[in-house]
Amino acid sequence: MPTLYIVGTPIGNLEDISLRALRILGEVDVIFCEDTRVTAKLLKHLKLNKPLKQFHKHSNVPNILNYYSIAYVSDAGTPGISDPGAMLIKYAREQGWDVVSVPGPSALTALISISGLELHEFTFLGFLPHKKGRETLIKEIAQSDRAMIVYESPHRIIKFLEKLAEFAPDKKVIIGRELTKKFEEVLVGTPSELAKFLQANPIKQKGEFVVLIYNNDPSK
Ligand code: SAM
Repeated sequence: MPTLYIVGTPIGNLEDISLRALRILGEVDVIFCEDTRVTAKLLKHLKLNKPLKQFHKHSNVPNILNYYSIAYVSDAGTPGISDPGAMLIKYAREQGWDVVSVPGPSALTALISISGLELHEFTFLGFLPHKKGRETLIKEIAQSDRAMIVYESPHRIIKFLEKLAEFAPDKKVIIGRELTKKFEEVLVGTPSELAKFLQANPIKQKGEFVVLIYNNDPSK
């Protein structure tokens, strides 16, 4: 059966590649990827030489029928988690292909794993919309008893925390910044404490952010 492998790749530290991912990437006919330049760097590090084909969110449905095995990787982390992949998977299934998961890192699970919270449930909102609907979602985060996780860009992280401080001053926030990378950092505080901290430390406004917001009630 022709097979599409959906392969998780590192979110920073290139050592975070599973043995199975390494084997599958070496065995497939071709690797489809979000950006050939990014994936070429990963393959160089892994000492793999494979044909790469670009497939991102604006791509047309690719021709997969010339192949028997394809791996799909996004730029970093797990495809399909705020990343492309869904359209390719749907098309491959329609063509009768097997779709197989080769799980790996994700900023979402990396932050949860070091949160120290016993999270039996949470809501992942991905990237909030930039304009329409943004404030409504932040209010929803404020009102929810459930832990919420968002991906946020360096340009909007302070504004996000300030809005959160307005609607949910008592919430607790854990920020994972640059997880698995050289300047990895975990920041914990209320929304206004963290907004002030980042304002005062411009260097720490750079990089990639994943944010967990939860109720500061030890009984929950
Ligand atoms: N598919 C990826 C995953 O599984 O985590 C996410 C892709 S999404 C386009 C990229 C966003 O994920 C970044 O803007 C940031 O919010 C978050 N992210 C990715 N790598 C990260 C890291 N090393 N540290 C913190 N956040 C990260």
